[in-house]
Amino acid sequence: MSLVLYNDLTKEKEKFVPVREGHVAFYSCGPTVYDYFHIGNARPFIVFDVLRRYLEHVGYEVTFVQNFTDIDDKMINRANAEGITVAALADRFIEEYRRDADALGIRPPTITPRATEHMEEIVSIIGKIMEKGHAYEVCTPSGGSDVYFDVRSWPSYGKLSGQSLDELESGARVEVGEIKRDPLDFALWKAEKPGEPSWESPWGKGRPGWHIECSVMSTKYLGSTIDIHSGGVDLTFPHHENEIAQTEAATGEPFVRFWLHNGFLLIDREKMSKSLGNFMTARAAREKYPPLAIRLFMLSAHYRSPINFAPEGLEQAAGGVTRLRNSWADLKYARASRGESAFADISLFKEELGKLDRAFFEAMDDDFNTAAAVGSLFEIVRLINTWLRDHPALPAEFFDAAEGELRKLDGILGVIGIDEAKDADAEEIERLVEERAAARKSKDFKRSDEIRDALLDRGIVLEDTPTGTKWKRKLGQDAG
Ligand code: AMP
Ligand code: ZN
Repeated sequence: MSLVLYNDLTKEKEKFVPVREGHVAFYSCGPTVYDYFHIGNARPFIVFDVLRRYLEHVGYEVTFVQNFTDIDDKMINRANAEGITVAALADRFIEEYRRDADALGIRPPTITPRATEHMEEIVSIIGKIMEKGHAYEVCTPSGGSDVYFDVRSWPSYGKLSGQSLDELESGARVEVGEIKRDPLDFALWKAEKPGEPSWESPWGKGRPGWHIECSVMSTKYLGSTIDIHSGGVDLTFPHHENEIAQTEAATGEPFVRFWLHNGFLLIDREKMSKSLGNFMTARAAREKYPPLAIRLFMLSAHYRSPINFAPEGLEQAAGGVTRLRNSWADLKYARASRGESAFADISLFKEELGKLDRAFFEAMDDDFNTAAAVGSLFEIVRLINTWLRDHPALPAEFFDAAEGELRKLDGILGVIGIDEAKDADAEEIERLVEERAAARKSKDFKRSDEIRDALLDRGIVLEDTPTGTKWKRKLGQDAG
């Protein structure tokens, strides 16, 4: 097996081979922490978390860096509107980011650097780019200085977005107050303005432009050539195009081996975005839908395809999560209640499981096709359910193989929630099931019915069997 990934730089699927054997240097553009992130932003956070888990699963040591953009126009405007400092705003929304990311099962990156904590390095890389003749300083009317990257001095500019300089030129905009030689040039450093935070530099006080932070934080923690750089497709141009030009101008080395861009999450066929106002925050989404269902929804499409955010899709995913969780619960219950028998022949089960497992990994290896991999997971669950239904007694080997498989795949996709540190909901349900059993024993049927009805209201159905009471979530519901 070997992983093949579509490389946005070459527009081809390529065999993934990292620079350093056994190690993957992976950088993903993180959130601008001026507000809660929306469910469109959650797409790259979830899918690239799964790619990272997958790389780890197949044996790589992964250094996964995801930055926090804690200084830009949006940060400054929002902080001013709230009458707080930019730093206080950043602290608050980094905290809120972590809360939502945790709830969505997104593992903390290896390193989460903040732009404002890298000013020295930012100033130093800009100096290097100027020394090499690819950036220039312009005096502003206020007496300060801006520094711009000289795009025309960098012949390979446009290689990621696949456009010529002239094509790009026709779409370029000059922002108010920018005095640059060419509309294509972009700011590396902006002169201080009243009411804005600023830092010292050889060009006077100011703050960095939008793109330079990612060049600095990726190369600082991962080296001058990194294996994977990812983000949403809207970052291809200009953000990533600019990152390539300025980083390669500074280091003289190829910056990134694999560029990966996720497709948009759409709503009513339009990109979900803050500026269009058509967004739902991840906070609101996870109050409405189980977090596991949000993950399953995102992973049920190929990461490069657009997906439409609609209630039906989320409800379907919630039903899927319930099926997965019930199968896991049935397995554990069957092992505990039926006892094990050494006599059943499970060779056919193992053979079919092996095939489906291979299909799962082949899908993941084929350009990280989680959509097909999720399909294999559901076939595995169907296989397990069929064997449980058709065989009153099964050997320990069956349970070991089935549980091991689900645990393994859940470690990669995180859609069953097996290893969730605590399933508070399940604990509470089990407590109520026990209380009901005690009530029945003491013939307090009023109380036992009350508990059954209360659980039913929560979508939990009870089934009394000779070996005890079994509980299940009704399809379409999930504790999350
Ligand atoms: P931002 O905080 O705006 O820089 O966005 C964080 C990440 O979310 C970036 O990788 C964006 O490309 C990505 N992103 C923003 N909107 C969407 C969307 N509607 N669908 C998918 N990804 C998005
Ligand atoms: Zn970035």
